[in-house]
Amino acid sequence: MPTLDLTRFPRLPLLTLPTLIEPLDGLTRHLGGALNGVRIFVKRDDVAGIGLGGNKLRKLEYLLGAARAEGADTVVTVGAIQSNHARLTAAAAARAGLACELFLTRSVPREDPDYTGNGNRLLDDVFGAKVHELPGDADSVAAAEARAIELRGTGRGVYVFPSGGSSPTGCLGYVNAAAEILAQAEALGLDFAQIITANGSAGTHAGLVAGLAAMDLDPRLAKSFAVLAEESRARAEVLEKANATLALMGLERRVTPDDINLDGRHRGSGYGIPTEGMLEAVRLMARHEGRLLDPVYSGKAFAGLLHDVRAGLYPSGAAVLFLMTGGTPGVFAYKDALAG
Ligand SMILES: *Cc1c(COP(=O)(O)O)cnc(C)c1O
Repeated sequence: MPTLDLTRFPRLPLLTLPTLIEPLDGLTRHLGGALNGVRIFVKRDDVAGIGLGGNKLRKLEYLLGAARAEGADTVVTVGAIQSNHARLTAAAAARAGLACELFLTRSVPREDPDYTGNGNRLLDDVFGAKVHELPGDADSVAAAEARAIELRGTGRGVYVFPSGGSSPTGCLGYVNAAAEILAQAEALGLDFAQIITANGSAGTHAGLVAGLAAMDLDPRLAKSFAVLAEESRARAEVLEKANATLALMGLERRVTPDDINLDGRHRGSGYGIPTEGMLEAVRLMARHEGRLLDPVYSGKAFAGLLHDVRAGLYPSGAAVLFLMTGGTPGVFAYKDALAG
């Protein structure tokens, strides 16, 4: 079993690892032959740790490790109004004893109170973050950087996390996850044909790609469904972030565009806008598994996986692993789409 040594990177533990890998027995029973004999497993990155969980916690372990090593007392980050990354940054900063400021853009065309005040946006307040709301077309990164300069001027130590936490340092969380998955697969006697994730800021996919490449495995084992950027842009982001992560790890190995296995066909008309496939996926998982996908990320990605499985992309008997990446609070921001 190949191993990766990330111990030289400071890490603030936020979740209990490894997260569980479980079969989808209820869904398999319900869909039967439509799954063409493919066995779908889920990795529960949605239940581990603090703040209602989610994939951003793996990145935040390394981001907060770096922030603390640099003596930061304040973290600042950016996202959409219903950003899971912003909510988990607020929770993780609270846990670490750091102040947190969030710059949130109204990038999804929604003004209703479910979207603007419930779900993640409510939790940002509950976790004690200072929230700055900006128009949809505002440059939130520039606003965050300007605020960091202002705060540093008053003697504060400020660390700015990028959108989705997807800097090379943040991506280390999913380098680690790649090694974790392979070790679990071996222990379970499973040989996953694919590891599937939703793709927003590209760091989860990029971290998996970097981890697989660092272990001399095929980076195409990881596949993402883009929900934010269009396919070509998303692919370029994964490529750039995976290579920046390999460089951060001090490795010579680089990946090429052909190594990036990515599908942009399940995004629908845009980020945060529901699709029929997403609604079907969220309901199937809820009604036959008692588990929650989220309406923005994992719902669309699982719709993509179901499409692939039904279309016969994987041979009968193949096992595939879907990352449950969290986003549960988003359910409360999509009442109109999901109710009934
Ligand atoms: C952010 C997020 C993703 C996508 O992760 P990226 O690293 O940003 O691509 C997937 N699922 C959920 C629930 C998320 O919040």
